[in-house]
Amino acid sequence: MSRSLPLGAPVVHLFIADLRLHDHAALHAGLAQALAEGRPWLALWLPPPAQPTPWGWPRTGARRLAWWHSAAHGLAQGLARHGHPLWCLPDGTTATLQAWISACSPAAVHVLEVPAPEERAVLQTLVAWGIPVHRHGIGTLHEAADLPFTPEAVPTVFTAFRQAVERAHTPVPGPLPVPTRWPAAWQPAENIADRLGWRCLDPQAPDDTALLAGDARHALPWPPADEAPWGGEAAALRHLQRYLDGGHARRYKATRNHLADPWGSSHWSLWLATGALSPRQALAALRAHEAAHGATDGTYWLWFELLWRDHFRWLHRRFGAALYRARGLAPHAPPRPLDPQRLARWMQGETGCDIVDAGMRELAASGYLSNRMRQIVASYWLHELQGDWRVGAAWFEAQLLDHDPCSNTGNWLYIAGLGTDPRGGRRFDPRKQAAQHDPDGAYRQRAH
Ligand code: FAD
Repeated sequence: MSRSLPLGAPVVHLFIADLRLHDHAALHAGLAQALAEGRPWLALWLPPPAQPTPWGWPRTGARRLAWWHSAAHGLAQGLARHGHPLWCLPDGTTATLQAWISACSPAAVHVLEVPAPEERAVLQTLVAWGIPVHRHGIGTLHEAADLPFTPEAVPTVFTAFRQAVERAHTPVPGPLPVPTRWPAAWQPAENIADRLGWRCLDPQAPDDTALLAGDARHALPWPPADEAPWGGEAAALRHLQRYLDGGHARRYKATRNHLADPWGSSHWSLWLATGALSPRQALAALRAHEAAHGATDGTYWLWFELLWRDHFRWLHRRFGAALYRARGLAPHAPPRPLDPQRLARWMQGETGCDIVDAGMRELAASGYLSNRMRQIVASYWLHELQGDWRVGAAWFEAQLLDHDPCSNTGNWLYIAGLGTDPRGGRRFDPRKQAAQHDPDGAYRQRAH
């Protein structure tokens, strides 16, 4: 696509999974470019995909969609305070992107990259059309340039990755403040928004808190109703502080496998997934808490877990679409034909294995599962029901409020033994897991 740049061509920030104003290098860079060149600025949100999966359910389930909208409303509120609307693209199809480009001829697009194939494909399309796309990292704690290895040579085994980073004392940049200088907002030509099906997000749109909260038996540490939008960055930052002030991080190592404890783990993933919370902001708050109250094995372990998140992102950067094959990174894997009845029983929590069924019902009722339960139900699908990892991962994608392509794919491959687990996969014996983590059966009872 050849293009000439009209006067007033905007600098665009394409929000994907970075729905915040705090700690946002890409945002700072785009605003600075617009100010330096005297251009208007446009904030555009690409919502998660809505199309159906090959197995019949939508890629993004209703509750997860409501969560993303809640996060986007929080962002729209923040932008409104600086005189900017948040525009929403209908989808990420080539036709939509093409219409967008011809409508506003962006001078440049700034983005915090999600290093997964679909999100990268959108950016590659823009680059192929000659749009200058500026990528500002992949949302990790560390900068690529500071790592003790090149991103292309990231250690494939987590322990080697963690030890290398820790041994090198690789710095984690401190979080950036919310920008203070904002250029003028881009003004669309008359009717263009209607013609393209674009819309501005209403910053005052109410949260569907009833849908988000789900079944009261599986309560998450949700903020009070008057702190909506729950998905927004203000709620994210308040939750972060509440979790630390409550002393929960100090006990995290002992409580993280509790199956029915809303404060047993941090639940930061809910806001990290949409980018309403920056991982560097979370780490900075954790470090400040340690400085004030002392470090514990709980606070260390939270850092350790945030490194898992990073590791899956770096692995995505290194291996890209290869991770999404049926065989993942393995040289080969026998095909796993789909048995629709087994799948339906697993999804509905009717396998007959009580701990697995309790987990699958919790997932459907709340959009969340503890890490322990994710491992148990994923292992059951893979190793007892002989399911294809991609089908299980797709069900998680639709259901999980905190779905993140890198963490979801990475963990599924790990348990399947098709990723980079040195032990070649993990099988969790459901009976042993139930005895260890739900000895009195309270968790299993709750699901009925
Ligand atoms: P905490 O235990 O409090 O950990 C703090 C943070 O560390 C998390 O918010 C998360 O960012 C990171 N973290 C912790 N464990 C992991 C892990 N195993 N892998 C990557 N990062 C981790 N996490 C997602 O964010 N999105 C997903 O789509 C996702 N899918 C998963 C699928 C399977 C099959 C499994 C086994 C795990 C999956 N996880 C996923 C990882 C993990 O279960 C969640 O990050 C965690 O349970 C979220 O709850 P929390 O924020 O309370 O985590």
